[in-house]
Amino acid sequence: MPTRKPFVGGNWKMNQHGAEAVALAEAVAKKFTATDKVDVAVFPAFPYLAPVGQALAKAGSGIKLGAQDFYVEPNGAFTGEVSLSMLKDVGVKVVLVGHSERRHVIGETDVLINRKVRAALDGGFEVILCVGEKLEQREAGMTDCVNMAQTLYGLGGVKPEQMARITIAYEPVWAIGTGKNATPIDAQSAHWRIRDAVKYGVFTGGEKGESIGNAVRIQYGGSVKGSNAAELFAQPDVDGGLIGGASLKADEFVAILDAAAKKQ
Ligand code: PEP
Repeated sequence: MPTRKPFVGGNWKMNQHGAEAVALAEAVAKKFTATDKVDVAVFPAFPYLAPVGQALAKAGSGIKLGAQDFYVEPNGAFTGEVSLSMLKDVGVKVVLVGHSERRHVIGETDVLINRKVRAALDGGFEVILCVGEKLEQREAGMTDCVNMAQTLYGLGGVKPEQMARITIAYEPVWAIGTGKNATPIDAQSAHWRIRDAVKYGVFTGGEKGESIGNAVRIQYGGSVKGSNAAELFAQPDVDGGLIGGASLKADEFVAILDAAAKKQ
């Protein structure tokens, strides 16, 4: 069984203006230096990618710069959109795809999400593919079915050699920004089934499918805080987290990173 290095992302969403965003990045970079133990990425809003990237570089931090979104086409008449090569220009290394707010508020489909995953991988980026069930789907007993289907759609056509740049974030929609997190057991059970979907669905089992599935990192996201991170990360198939609200406060985010650093 491979050892998976924990990976924690801070999704700042549509929060933090100029100086605040830079100060937050600087504070996290100063307080957390164990990027040999935990991969860390922060995802500021588009206008602040460059200054946050510069602040991280100046601090000599191993924290990666991430983008919350992008458009699939390389250039052209797509008013308001931002291309992957523009993100590369400002130092972005990792991109989010399929976040529940983009699926359910903005209306992105599984087809577009799959195009984005493949475009970002082809462009050399790391990708965090977010999946997760809504409350009514959970109540209807469809949790694993939804997560496995979103995983299969999202990763369709991804080449085995690209899988090292994929992380999956399991984010139950009812837990995002609500203060209600999945129990560690529920998270473990969902992660285990998502890993199975990679092993036997995206790839068709055998030694290759098993080894790709065992190597892929699966983050948990949904109301993770300093106080509940350790018990979630202690689960065998929980390889870190994608953090929204708690990533906006340096001390709280660093407490989560410290919990991830203790996972072995
Ligand atoms: C998220 O938006 O990815 C998220 C997990 O948010 P929160 O931590 O605020 O629930």
